[in-house]
Amino acid sequence: MEPFQIVAQTDTLRLNGWEQRCPGLVAGFTLRSGGLSEVPYDSLNLGLHVGDNPDHVRKNRQVVCRQVGFDFEAWTCGEQVHGTAVEQVTDAQRGSGRERADRAIPAVDGLYTDKAEILLTSYYADCIPLYVLDPQKRVIGLAHAGWKGTVGRIAAVMLRALEESYGCKPDELLVAIGPSIRGCCYEVDEKVMEHVRGSTANWKQSVQPGGDGRYMLDLAELNQQILIESGVPSSHISRSNYCTACNGKLFFSHRRDKGRTGRMASFIGWKAKGVE
Ligand SMILES: [Zn+2]
Repeated sequence: MEPFQIVAQTDTLRLNGWEQRCPGLVAGFTLRSGGLSEVPYDSLNLGLHVGDNPDHVRKNRQVVCRQVGFDFEAWTCGEQVHGTAVEQVTDAQRGSGRERADRAIPAVDGLYTDKAEILLTSYYADCIPLYVLDPQKRVIGLAHAGWKGTVGRIAAVMLRALEESYGCKPDELLVAIGPSIRGCCYEVDEKVMEHVRGSTANWKQSVQPGGDGRYMLDLAELNQQILIESGVPSSHISRSNYCTACNGKLFFSHRRDKGRTGRMASFIGWKAKGVE
């Protein structure tokens, strides 16, 4: 079953299973509809770094906050540099980057916290959103994994950071892999494949050779193999079936739209106790 379900009267997909299991948790992924931005960012573009009118982006972010029940002051993001660095978010960083890209938490692609009223966000137009949850310790993490972050094993880096900071054990974590470009639409060349082969022993099931030095790569599958190798039971991993490039009505896609397009957001946060 698809773990990300469209919620009526909103422009978001939500991880219903996680939200039902953990009262106070809000987690999901935005759709491209319901915002103010104009072509080619139509309409719920949430990226401040793609050339859209920043006033529209700020208002779009506020639309999402209202739909998911968080104050705009809670909207927090990292710079996203296609790296593998992750950072713990405390109250001091709450709201970083919500109005200006140059105020985002610098040089990180992953954020994690156990604090309430912080809405972790990151931005997508094909890359892989990874959501991590320790339901007992109430720790959450969000990582942005394009091909570089994936082969750099940001998934494993995040698991290590959660263990070091909070004592989270990989076999007690739940992980969700959000909507992204899938193997049906993501063609790569030998240069990328060199890194894929070195990323995990079980890379093969994520690749379909297409001949002529071209390959169809399923980054969601590759991240799943890295997570399993790092100690997350496969039964704890849920994966979206949505392909961003196949679904132009629902999603922006960098590859399909040839680079000029908006960004969806992944989001995860805890409401303060007693507030839902
Ligand atoms: Zn596709």
